[in-house]
Amino acid sequence: MVERRVRPLVGEPVAMDLLNTRWAGGGVEHDLLDSLDGLRQWLAETGLDARFAADRATLDRLLRVRGALRRLREHPGEAGARADLNDALAHGCVRRRLQEDAEGGPGTPAFDVEFDDPSWGPAWTAAAGYLDLLRSPDRIRGCANPACILVFFDTSKNGTRRWCSMAGCGNRAKAARHQARGRAGRTA
Ligand SMILES: [Zn+2]
Repeated sequence: MVERRVRPLVGEPVAMDLLNTRWAGGGVEHDLLDSLDGLRQWLAETGLDARFAADRATLDRLLRVRGALRRLREHPGEAGARADLNDALAHGCVRRRLQEDAEGGPGTPAFDVEFDDPSWGPAWTAAAGYLDLLRSPDRIRGCANPACILVFFDTSKNGTRRWCSMAGCGNRAKAARHQARGRAGRTA
């Protein structure tokens, strides 16, 4: 039984969550996707484990999309990163359909995705999820702590979220502000 690794931020949309498989902590950089066990954990945490296997091909493809997303954040519009993303997207095909409702309702829009190889599934899902988030590009942001590399999609009403989490970087910033105020009070 492999020990589950605790990430500081989970639950973001899958494209953001893929970027958050890397995090800084204790002066070192962590990477959940450094092994197939890590991939297995990630697939479970994102609910993709029911459909996709944790194998080497899946991991390689996922890492390529993660690299592309990372480069697109650092250099928006980078052609190579866009090409990598589009390459992953080309391996899936969306088929839309109208799903029957219980009790004769109007029906519910639904879709299925077909992959030319299932190992593209998680990579495609993250890439496609990123396209969806791009409808509100200003809501895709990094944590305001410069030492933190986590990203999030801000779903707050006013779009004022600043931290990966209030319990993590948010609290540290609050504590630092208190400390600074305490120092200012003593020297006055
Ligand atoms: Zn943070």
